[in-house]
Amino acid sequence: MGGLRVNAPLDTDRIRADFGKSAPGLDAVRTRADFPILSRPMSGHPLVYLDSAATSQKPAAVIRAISRYYEEANANAHRGVYALAEDATRVLEDARARVAAFLHVTAPRQVAFTRNATEGINLVAHAWGDRHVAEGDEVVVTAMEHHSDLVPWHLLARRTGCRVRAVPVTDEGLLDLDALRRLLTPRVRLVALAHVSNVLATVNPVAEVARLAHEAGAAVLVDAAQSVPHVPVDATAIGADFLAFSGHKMLGPMGIGGVAIAERHLDDMDPFLGGGQMIREVALESSSYADAPARFEAGTPDVASAAGLAAAVEYLSAIGMDAIAAHSRSLGVRARERLSALPGVRLLGPDAAGPASSGTLVTFVVDGAHPHDIAADLGREGIAVRAGHHCAQPLMKRFGVASTTRASFYLYNTDSEVDAFATALERVVARYARPHSSARPSDSLPAGRGGGNAAARGRAEEWGSDLDREVVLDHYLRPAGRDPVDDCQVEWEGRNPLCGDEVTVRVRLDGDRIAGLQVVGHGCSVSVASGSMLASELKGRTLPDAYRLLRGLKAMLRNEALPDDLDLGDLKALEGIRELPVRVKCALLPWTTFEEGMMQWPQPQPTSSTSSGP
Ligand code: PMP
Repeated sequence: MGGLRVNAPLDTDRIRADFGKSAPGLDAVRTRADFPILSRPMSGHPLVYLDSAATSQKPAAVIRAISRYYEEANANAHRGVYALAEDATRVLEDARARVAAFLHVTAPRQVAFTRNATEGINLVAHAWGDRHVAEGDEVVVTAMEHHSDLVPWHLLARRTGCRVRAVPVTDEGLLDLDALRRLLTPRVRLVALAHVSNVLATVNPVAEVARLAHEAGAAVLVDAAQSVPHVPVDATAIGADFLAFSGHKMLGPMGIGGVAIAERHLDDMDPFLGGGQMIREVALESSSYADAPARFEAGTPDVASAAGLAAAVEYLSAIGMDAIAAHSRSLGVRARERLSALPGVRLLGPDAAGPASSGTLVTFVVDGAHPHDIAADLGREGIAVRAGHHCAQPLMKRFGVASTTRASFYLYNTDSEVDAFATALERVVARYARPHSSARPSDSLPAGRGGGNAAARGRAEEWGSDLDREVVLDHYLRPAGRDPVDDCQVEWEGRNPLCGDEVTVRVRLDGDRIAGLQVVGHGCSVSVASGSMLASELKGRTLPDAYRLLRGLKAMLRNEALPDDLDLGDLKALEGIRELPVRVKCALLPWTTFEEGMMQWPQPQPTSSTSSGP
């Protein structure tokens, strides 16, 4: 493993002395100093970064390793014969050796670099799956998989005619192992499962699953995207045939990850992508292929990211994965304790203190508050958490939710950050607690401004003026247009798959006048408020007039000029949303649903030339 070291000599002695296994615990306050980004404020507050399950922050040692590679060793690896190119090759292969040792696989050639875990899983689905899976065969997944460990198997099923079957998840968030045993028939070629769930923090018994799968004659792919960064992982002891990981979640740069492949499969797999580097010999009409891992790595590799990943592995190893795991778990336990005391908060997944959980993250839903609103409001206080379906839609469905909020912890997070998060969440929960008088009557046209008291509710997320946010919150808490519409002629449903918002619009027309309008569904404050505004603004208008308002809203959200004589009414309160691209979709959802619904109606069309407008 000798040769050029582009990793600035890492002061591993200092890191070990400060945080290592011999120390009573990891000192996150000191760790933080190694992460330059953590000293930047966010929204005027100290940054509390609780989204490491999405991507981790990078220590200076990793950032330095990348720039040093470009300053001192950049050339195309495995190509040139001059000294610089050999340096680049050495950097790449040194990184491979470090990752192999970190994952406890025997030989570096068992590690194929990819862009991320997703690409690693796709590599296996093509290079192994296309060769070993056929019509009538089965691939077993679990109901807690990330889409990255579902969609590649769905695509394999389309290519081969195999069937994908799923192990269910219990109410507690554990795999139903009895169901797995029943699914393990001789038809099963592969079991693909997460080591640690990115939503529930469940630690799946992967070694046990591998044993059962092997007994049934199936191979096992472990999606280790959430385990490799947080807990010691021994791919060989697990018995994984394939183990995929992402560098960016383990302090490394974006753009590199990989898959560790059991020795027995290396010569039994086809190439993944075709191109340079993966070949043995190429003629005009056919080619033969290199051995692993080159066979799986077509094209110029990301050597700089490999240098960064090597530095990340060195950094993690210097602190020690046991210490890191214990630290993150202690934060997860603390967070669950604080959150379980909050009214209306429901936590998903097993107890963070127990062996069934990594304790590295908490996922929750709050009565009456949409995850997008929670995450946006926390963001305004400098706290970064993730909201959405976390690329695990089947799991969301299993727990009867469209989306959740997730806070995830790592070696640079502190107890006081967890406390700041829990305290801020308490304020958010209170803000969205519904008043006893629920819906505003749909006939109260228009919805009045300033019906609530923003100061008393606390401050909402950062966009628009206080008054605008208050108007939106008021519409959200007392939405118009909920009353049923008899004899509706148009009914249309709209969804925002990103956050699970759903809306149904029902319209009754009298000639070209909107005589009845109902807007129902669920969503974040912005989409619900926008639906309430749609109901109150459009009822009684003619269709051309309604389409004119719709075009006006779109123009406002695109920052385009509006006609002088167009009065947007309460919709004006949504103007500030255009600064938040993700939420523009929320604001538009009821309106595009209305528009699509009206497309089904004979005359006049939203886009027809008969409608006047800007
Ligand atoms: N699997 C799991 C369990 C994950 O959490 C993630 C990332 N959220 C992935 C796979 C995909 O990782 P990437 O986007 O880096 O490929």
